[in-house]
Amino acid sequence: MLSQDTIIALATPSGEGALALIRLSGPRAITWTDEIFIGANLQKSVSHTMHFGEIVDDKQSTLDEVVVMLYKSPKSYTTEDVVEITCHGSRYIIQKILERYIELGARTAQPGEFTQRAFLSGRMDLAQAEAVADVIASTSAASHKVALHQMKGGISSEIKDLRNKLIEFASLIELELDFAEEDVEFADRSALIDLVQKISEKISALMHSFSLGNALKEGIVTVIAGKPNAGKSTLLNRLLAEERAIVSEIPGTTRDAIEEKINLNGVDFRFVDTAGIRSTDDRIEGLGVQKTYQKLRKADIVLYLFDASRTSHAELQSELQSLELIHAHLLVVANKMDRNPYAKAEEFISPAFQAEQFIPISALNNMNIEYLKEKLYEVAVGARLDLQDTIITNARHYSALKKTKEHLDKVQQSFADNISSDFVAMDIRQATYHLGEITGEISTDDLLDNIFRNFCIGK
Ligand code: GDP
Repeated sequence: MLSQDTIIALATPSGEGALALIRLSGPRAITWTDEIFIGANLQKSVSHTMHFGEIVDDKQSTLDEVVVMLYKSPKSYTTEDVVEITCHGSRYIIQKILERYIELGARTAQPGEFTQRAFLSGRMDLAQAEAVADVIASTSAASHKVALHQMKGGISSEIKDLRNKLIEFASLIELELDFAEEDVEFADRSALIDLVQKISEKISALMHSFSLGNALKEGIVTVIAGKPNAGKSTLLNRLLAEERAIVSEIPGTTRDAIEEKINLNGVDFRFVDTAGIRSTDDRIEGLGVQKTYQKLRKADIVLYLFDASRTSHAELQSELQSLELIHAHLLVVANKMDRNPYAKAEEFISPAFQAEQFIPISALNNMNIEYLKEKLYEVAVGARLDLQDTIITNARHYSALKKTKEHLDKVQQSFADNISSDFVAMDIRQATYHLGEITGEISTDDLLDNIFRNFCIGK
C-alpha cells in the first residue's frame, strides 16, 4: 500500500551538531529533490547511490553543501522512494531545507510515520516495528540484544507459527460444523487436545519470560535498604564510581529517594535508596517508612545492608523479618567488614533464614564489591537469559498472550466437558485473533496510532 503524500522529517536530534540527516519518503521525494538540488539528476540515477551537491533556495543561492542518498521504491525502509539528505547541523540550514520541501508540498511526518509506512507496506510486521523503537531506546547490552532479536523477526516467527497451527485446527473444527448433520469427525480429538496443550504451554513460557524481559528493558529495580549509617550511600557511590558506564540520575518520586541507573555486566540496574524501615511514632518519619514499604513491594531485588561492626544477630533477624518481601530476591550484605574482619555469616544469620546470598563487603575500602556485582547479576538474570529464546519485553504483547491463553484454557475445558464444537471453534478463533494482534495481522487504526505515537519523529 503506497501513500499518496510525501513526508519529511529531521531524523537526527534537533539542535546544533556536526551533521544532520533529513529524510523524505513518498512518490515526490526524488522529483522535488531534483528541483532544489544542484548535482546529479536523481531521477536518472540508480538506486542506492550517494550524490554530492548543493541545496539552493528559491533564488538559486546556495543553502548548504550536502550529500544525498537515494533509495528507489521498493528497495527502501518504507518501500516508497526515499531520499536522505546529510547537511551541516545548523538549525538555520535544517529549517530552510525543511521549509523548501514544505513549500513544494511535502508534509511534516508524524512520530514513527516512516516505520508505520514500512509496516503498512508489509515490509515488517507490527512486533518488528515496535522493536525499532526499542532498539533506539536500548541502553544496555541485554536490552539491545532482545530488541534486536525482535526487530529481526524473532518473536514474529514464533507467534506466526503458533497462529498458523491454530488456524489449521480451527478450519478442521469448522469443517465438522459444516457437516454437523452427518455427525462426522474430521479432526482427531486426541491430536487436537495435544496440540492445544502444546501451544498453551508455549504461550505460558512466553508470558513467563515477560518478567525478565520487562526488567531487562526498564532496568532491574534494586532497593537498597538498611538502617541509617549502614553505609547505603557509600555503597551506591562505590557502584557508580566503579562502573564508568552511562549513568543517569532519575529524580525519585519522593524526596527521600533517588534512583540511579547503573550498568553492571551489560544489564541495567535501577538502584533505589530508601529511608529506614524501623517502625516509628514520629509522623514524618512514619511517612518515610510507608514509602519505603511501597518501594520494597515494587523491587525485583532488595539489597539489605547492615553495619557488621555493630549489629547483633537478634537485631538483624528482626530487621530482616520486618521487610515483608513479596516476590523480590533478597541479598543480605554485611558492610564495614574492615572493622570486623573475622566475622562469619553464622554470627549474623540463622541457617533457617531464606536469604539467597550473604555477602560481606566494605563499601569504604572497596572490598568484595566485584563479588557483590556478580551476585546481583546472578540473582537478577542468572541462567534465565538465554538469548536464543524469545523473550517478551512488550506489555502489549504480554496482554495479547494472556487473552490468547484464556481462550485456549476454555478450549481445553470444553474438550474436557465434551462441549459442542461451536464453542470450541469460537474460542479458537478468539485465540488466533489475539495472537494476530501481536504481529499486526489484526490491527485497528487506534492501536496503530497508539503504538507509533510513542516513536521519535523521523523514524
Ligand atoms: P547511610 O546512612 O546508610 O547512607 O550510610 P553512609 O553511606 O552515609 O555511611 C555512614 C558512615 O559509615 C560514613 O561515615 C561512612 O564513611 C561509613 N562507612 C560506610 N561504609 C563503610 C565501610 O565499609 N567501613 C567503614 N569503616 N566505614 C564505612
